[in-house]
Amino acid sequence: MASDLVDVKSFIPTIQVDLKYATTDNFTGEIVYDFHHCLLRKEAALKLRDVQAELQTRDLGLKIWDGFRPMSAQWKFWELIPDERYVSDPRKGGRHTRGTAVDVTLITKDGHELLMPSDFDDFSEKAHEDYKGANNEAIKNRELLKKTMERHGFVGLPTEWWHFDLVGWQNFPPLD
Ligand SMILES: [Zn+2]
Repeated sequence: MASDLVDVKSFIPTIQVDLKYATTDNFTGEIVYDFHHCLLRKEAALKLRDVQAELQTRDLGLKIWDGFRPMSAQWKFWELIPDERYVSDPRKGGRHTRGTAVDVTLITKDGHELLMPSDFDDFSEKAHEDYKGANNEAIKNRELLKKTMERHGFVGLPTEWWHFDLVGWQNFPPLD
């Protein structure tokens, strides 16, 4: 796996990485994988570098919650939540398993998370990219994230405001 993946921090030193599944602070309550580096395919890391550069002109930046996920982790999620709105079916290869998907939010230059319509891995309508029940500031932040990611070659997911795939992700095979 390692040969196809790069450490995102080595491409984007200013990016914050807080991999939730490398800790117990996630919906499973368990450590899902045992590495703390965000790994992505180089193509995705380069695009993410452009996103970070644009955000820095606004005194903002990205915080990453998840990047590459081994297939074993994908199976664990699927056993807990076999619902394709929230978890990719591992039999179809998954998304994070390809090294082209990233879960991100916006932070200030001091590292504080911006207000968003929901927490990470909120499996409810609050996580949907068109959810209108949040306050204006949260909606504005969600839209800024989406527009900036899309401008630099990523595509969002209707059910998770924090999830983005590299355009053309289907052409990259899963890695393990
Ligand atoms: Zn995701």
